[in-house]
Amino acid sequence: MKIITIDGPGGAGKSTVAKKLALILGYLYLDTGAMYRAVALYVLLKGKSCKDEKAVTSLLCEIDIMHENNKIYLNGKDVESEIRDPEISEAASAVSTFYEVRKKMVELQRRVFHGKGLVCEGRDMGSVVFPDACYKFYLTASIEERAKRRLRDLEKMRVTASISETIQKLDKRDRQDSERAISPLVVPEGALVIDTTWMNVQEVTEKILSCVDH
Ligand code: C5P
Repeated sequence: MKIITIDGPGGAGKSTVAKKLALILGYLYLDTGAMYRAVALYVLLKGKSCKDEKAVTSLLCEIDIMHENNKIYLNGKDVESEIRDPEISEAASAVSTFYEVRKKMVELQRRVFHGKGLVCEGRDMGSVVFPDACYKFYLTASIEERAKRRLRDLEKMRVTASISETIQKLDKRDRQDSERAISPLVVPEGALVIDTTWMNVQEVTEKILSCVDH
């Protein structure tokens, strides 16, 4: 399977590196976090709580998600900027704990692979969605460094937040993602762990490329 999976906690640099790799290798890129974010956005737009499993599950049949050209479409509408709102990060983590949500997302994610190369990133890519992928990576970094990176992203969106608040939110989401019953965030079997705390995007990309036949 010409698939490269990249898993890891928030702020470890997965998206930036995965996009770069896909471009260099001419592979498709799939941001699965964006899909959970789109589900959360829809639930919030409908005025429901993302913690209400029954409500979230009943809305699933109304949700169509497509990932194309590095953008995420919710029922045909490009929602790439809306889903990056910090409120959506927490809401996505909540909806991603539900069985029916994961079932639907995993089906959609598997359908994206057409035999051509794919670089996909998320929390369960190498462990659950594509356990037979050729290459599996797990990116991590210290929580302080991940929070700094998240703050830089927030600044670009003109959102102000403090470092301590950002660390707290990341830590809460890490715990929720690692401790959930279904498909928790784990280092997938056979994955190479890369600590990116002291590495820049170019270095991480080169490290991964040096492990991949291309
Ligand atoms: O990667 P990102 O921060 O966009 O992901 C948002 C949330 O979606 C994560 O905190 C996690 O709860 C969920 N997620 C997941 N499985 C994936 C990708 C993301 O549960 N494969």
